[in-house]
Amino acid sequence: MGNDILLQNVTLIDENGDIVKGLDIGIDRGHITTIGSKLSKTDYGEVLDCSDFIVTPGFVNLHTHSPMNIFKGIAEDVSIDRWFNGEIWPYESKLEPSDVYIGSLLAIAEMIDNGVTSFADHYFYAEEICRAVLESGIRGDIAPTIFGDSNEFSSQLDGATELVQTYNRQHRRLNVRLGPHAPYTCSPESLETIIDRAKELGVGIHIHVSETLDQIISSLDSSGKTPFRVLHEVGGMDVPAIVAHGLYIQEEDMSYLSDDTYMALTPKTYMKLAMGWGTVWHNYRDLPLCIGTDGAASSNSLSPLEQIRYLGLIGKNILGLPQSFTLKELWQIGMRGHEALGFKTGKLKPGYGADLIVWDINMINTLPVYNPLAAIIYSADARNIRHVMVDGKWVKKDGDVNMPLDSIRGEILNRVDNLLKRGKGKAMLYF
Ligand SMILES: [Zn+2]
Repeated sequence: MGNDILLQNVTLIDENGDIVKGLDIGIDRGHITTIGSKLSKTDYGEVLDCSDFIVTPGFVNLHTHSPMNIFKGIAEDVSIDRWFNGEIWPYESKLEPSDVYIGSLLAIAEMIDNGVTSFADHYFYAEEICRAVLESGIRGDIAPTIFGDSNEFSSQLDGATELVQTYNRQHRRLNVRLGPHAPYTCSPESLETIIDRAKELGVGIHIHVSETLDQIISSLDSSGKTPFRVLHEVGGMDVPAIVAHGLYIQEEDMSYLSDDTYMALTPKTYMKLAMGWGTVWHNYRDLPLCIGTDGAASSNSLSPLEQIRYLGLIGKNILGLPQSFTLKELWQIGMRGHEALGFKTGKLKPGYGADLIVWDINMINTLPVYNPLAAIIYSADARNIRHVMVDGKWVKKDGDVNMPLDSIRGEILNRVDNLLKRGKGKAMLYF
């Protein structure tokens, strides 16, 4: 006895999409400690026979706004202009910290159900998201949103700095970085101030870039530069950067990306808000593509698997090549988010954090299984996700998310009642 958990007889799909059979995985104090065959059961407190299952690293949701689960379904069938300016930003202006907290808890429960073991968030009242992360068992990389052109710029930057100082290097499951909203809502001067602060603090940034064609056109009109170039010139690629979207990345932008730049694509939102197909498809093998879900107000679900599936289907069609966006390539895009976060997860190898999914693909939606990756990417859903482990602890076991779901359900209905009574306020910004 001494070690925590032994997974026996594992068939593993690794981060590259390669299948390895007949392994035992030993886990202790949050880490994978041993991989071998026929490890001794008596050394472990808990033994799980995985003969009937597939084990993979967990999913990363590299771009979301978890508190927006409180808005799921509130703004449907509207233009992107109306979505931002007429619905979401006016409601957000009256949002309270407790709405953010409960929305985030609901989102985390949904993410765990869908096999997410870590997520990168971008929102205000970020201390409430940090609280939800620590209480729930998931890993979170939280970026407090900063609007460089707003009157609150200094206080938002100072608040974010304080969160970094409070939480970073204190918890294995929580990291805070700075979240400049976007080049179109932050002047180059304010962007530079934020990035300089990120350098001083030793943290990265998380920012929306080149999300729509209009953003490219207006940036070129006003400065003669693409949004990526604006970000590059103020040092945005000198720090670890999560770039949300980059859907309309231009040829010249490729040269601005550094080894520590990661792009989080959220294809369901692009289709739902009819944002066009963008430009990421032809060069997809040369871009650091990862998967996000965006907030539930636009995507209505927080399943990276669903987004990976859309990415593959759109990509094959745009290129007119069913041989493109192969199963392995899609899987690698789904797993790459682990590299973007500082948690040392994503590989089921000794020394890595024990973040993993145990899949049951012997179900009616996935049988027969000629190809396990095809079964997962094109047929599976949350029902097939039997167990989920984060930092060596089960956060979903036997199909049940290990969170107080009844109280979350009750509280969210309460908060939604209040939110609708308060109604819309005045948006601070214009999209
Ligand atoms: Zn977003």
